[in-house]
Amino acid sequence: MATAVAAVLESARNLQFREFPIPEVSDDDAVMEVEASGLCGTDYEQYLGGLSFGDGMPIIPGHEIIGRITRIGAAAVKRWGVDVGDRVTVEPIIPCGVCEGCIEGAFTRCQSGLGYGMYRGTGTAPSLWGGYATHVYLHPRALIHKLPEDIPTNVTTLINPLSNAIRWIYEVGGVGLGSTVVIAGPGQRGLLAAAAAKKAGAKTIIVTGTTTDGSRLDLARNLGATTTINIDEEDPVTRVTEVTDGGMADIVLDVSAGAMTPILQGIDMLRRGGRLVLAGLKSGNKLNDVPIDQVVLREIELRGVVSGGYQSTELAIGMIRESAETLAPLCTHVFALRDVTNAVRTLGREITDGTDAVHITLTSDMDQCSESLIR
Ligand SMILES: [Zn+2]
Ligand SMILES: [Zn+2]
Repeated sequence: MATAVAAVLESARNLQFREFPIPEVSDDDAVMEVEASGLCGTDYEQYLGGLSFGDGMPIIPGHEIIGRITRIGAAAVKRWGVDVGDRVTVEPIIPCGVCEGCIEGAFTRCQSGLGYGMYRGTGTAPSLWGGYATHVYLHPRALIHKLPEDIPTNVTTLINPLSNAIRWIYEVGGVGLGSTVVIAGPGQRGLLAAAAAKKAGAKTIIVTGTTTDGSRLDLARNLGATTTINIDEEDPVTRVTEVTDGGMADIVLDVSAGAMTPILQGIDMLRRGGRLVLAGLKSGNKLNDVPIDQVVLREIELRGVVSGGYQSTELAIGMIRESAETLAPLCTHVFALRDVTNAVRTLGREITDGTDAVHITLTSDMDQCSESLIR
């Protein structure tokens, strides 16, 4: 029987390689051979044992998966419009289709508990529910996107975080022609948000960061930021006031991890009726200093967002096809599956090869050594 190899998170900080049978498919489902998985902050939190939903461990992590269909049933071919050999990506969430969120078309709110990388453990048949593996099982309700062939692996794994950025900036944020946007946090998602804002037609794109973010703020300007602010050196609210001639921002997107100040400053940076989109998790911390009167009197909208959606993924695929070269400098590191622990520890800044890790790709290769792509 053919077997798949997967890196299983057995307990916190403990990834072990295990073999699983590659499942036979029925009329309705499929198997994909993994090409690679993108890593994001969630992967590191999961590695530390910090994810509080799903089956828990043991689990195969990896929710930003690209690969090729290797086995597929006849009904699945019809439903998804893909066949053996096609390059695809799968949405992390497998929607139930019948809950209120799904019926409203907002499957990011579905609580089905089914999905990839973070939901089902290896104890749920057929075990292959994550991208740190050579193969992944495609459930009949999985959402599949066909991918272009001609984009390099490391750039293609930007699709998931770019889908998030497009939903937060464009679909939820409402950024359009002439908009003024402030993005707090120049991580992978903040940088992609700058690129998405430019694509959507924003006129003024301001990205904030700290002194340690120097190279990322350079990258932000290359991707479309018109102004970058080092908040260790200047007051971001004063600077936004200057840059916008007092007009302030239409949208502030907070993608900073842990920090609360960007939220309070974000309220001050907005014009009347502006929108504060909150996408950065704060490690369970609460915020007490929100100037509610300001929010009321100036009709500020506060909106939380958790991930991308189907349409934003389609837009992300189109944008990656058009702008692969512009986005490539974000793709700083590629690791092979056999080096998965080093990949995740590099992501968490526990170890470094001396270059700043912005976007990390984990290929499914068990035989090859990793290469760091240094820009
Ligand atoms: Zn992710
Ligand atoms: Zn649902």
